[in-house]
Amino acid sequence: MATWRNWAGEQRCAPHAIERPRSEAELVEVVGRAADQGLGVRAVGSGHSFTDAACTDGVMVSLARMGAVLEADPASGLVRVQGGIVLGELALALAARGLALENQGDIDAQTISGAVSTATHGTGTGFVNLSGQLSALRLVTAAGEAVEVSEDDDPRAFRAARVAVGSLGVISELTLRCVPAFRIHRIDEPRPLAEVLAALEELADAHDHFEFFAFPYTDTALTLTSTRTEEPARPRDGRGAWIEEELVYNGVFGALTRLGRAFPTLVPSLNRLVTRMSSGSEQLDSSHRIYAHDRRVRFTEMEYGIPRQAAAIAIERVMDLVERRRLPVGFPIEVRFVAPDDALLSPSYERPTCYIAVHMTAGVEFESFFRAVEEIMREYGGRPHWGKRHYRTAADLAPAYPEWGAFQAVRARLDPTGVFTNDYAARVLGPVTR
Ligand SMILES: Cc1cc2nc3c(=O)[nH]c(=O)nc-3n(C[C@H](O)[C@H](O)[C@H](O)COP(=O)(O)OP(=O)(O)OC[C@H]3O[C@@H](n4cnc5c(N)ncnc54)[C@H](O)[C@@H]3O)c2cc1C
Repeated sequence: MATWRNWAGEQRCAPHAIERPRSEAELVEVVGRAADQGLGVRAVGSGHSFTDAACTDGVMVSLARMGAVLEADPASGLVRVQGGIVLGELALALAARGLALENQGDIDAQTISGAVSTATHGTGTGFVNLSGQLSALRLVTAAGEAVEVSEDDDPRAFRAARVAVGSLGVISELTLRCVPAFRIHRIDEPRPLAEVLAALEELADAHDHFEFFAFPYTDTALTLTSTRTEEPARPRDGRGAWIEEELVYNGVFGALTRLGRAFPTLVPSLNRLVTRMSSGSEQLDSSHRIYAHDRRVRFTEMEYGIPRQAAAIAIERVMDLVERRRLPVGFPIEVRFVAPDDALLSPSYERPTCYIAVHMTAGVEFESFFRAVEEIMREYGGRPHWGKRHYRTAADLAPAYPEWGAFQAVRARLDPTGVFTNDYAARVLGPVTR
């Protein structure tokens, strides 16, 4: 029996088999065979979800051998890719054709299918999550056939399938709406947290992409302000680049989090040290090089989307929670903004959204902290990121999604017997109902 674990190493399962088809025809065969044998089927991408979204004891299907760009039309920006392509490879293939993704998250190790299936997002009040950048997809369904689902032919199914957490079928191909390649000028700088919170809405609206990290036990926020530009690329200044990559994301940060794990009472001082060392940096480069970072420090994470007008107060409450309970939270609280979209299960469904993420070093107790944060987020009508930890169930998620019933109707149509329902889907989406 095969074994599988996710990037963070915290979700493990023993699938009956792990299949790696080389073509859509092989994928159809794999799904059909599993369904005939009464086995569940779960697609897996790069395993970068913190939940058990990809786990199964049935057949796990990886599209690691289906990662090609099939067609690209630089004039329309429409690009058809196989479902297993990894975002970093996609970005390079697009750049070679003078194209880019309109927006991205902060890493590019995910597959495009895994990323859209959980509504993976970047930041920018004018930009929707990755699933909003699709114009069509092909789904291999429980009936063992490949169906094209597009906004023109079947808008309801398309809005369901864009963010379906693997529960409608296996996405074999996607057509993306790409944009002409562009560069971004990004300035990272420490600022007083109180000032950032007081001007949060203005800051978010004033820049193409705005986000910040708030460090518990300090008064400091590290803001990342990005503007799209026609200017030529400029290499990063060495010290700033080192500080950003090593201090905020990797080597030095990793060492400090290990120290904090061994001596939790040191965490407040370590956080103050990090903010004192961070002097800011500036870079101007192709969009995909600015968006994505290498993340070597292992952690677990919860992220909630709330209405953006509630952001400042919710962030203050999370900071207060950490400090009042003296929790050993060495990771900063990450705050991003996303435009509304219309995917039925998108956490930013029809509302301008602020995403607030909390992290905990791998191996440190996180549940009491995450549950307390979740309570705060629920008060603001929060919707959890589908790929990150949360404790919600179908019964209490349904009222948070105005078109929950419409999603379930599409699910019952495409997967009437629940072939694609794993434990996670059963918990957060409930059983297939007809
Ligand atoms: C270090 C790190 C940084 C991250 N940064 C961000 C960020 O900036 N923004 C953000 O929003 N999220 C972020 N995430 C979360 C991540 O983007 C999501 O969890 C994403 O779903 C992971 O993609 P994956 O390819 O690893 O998919 P997996 O985690 O393997 O799978 C995710 C879901 O997609 C389904 N799926 C995968 N492939 C298919 C397919 N072919 N057909 C149908 N369903 C499929 C799976 O069944 C599962 O339900 C981050 C995660 C990590 C570990």
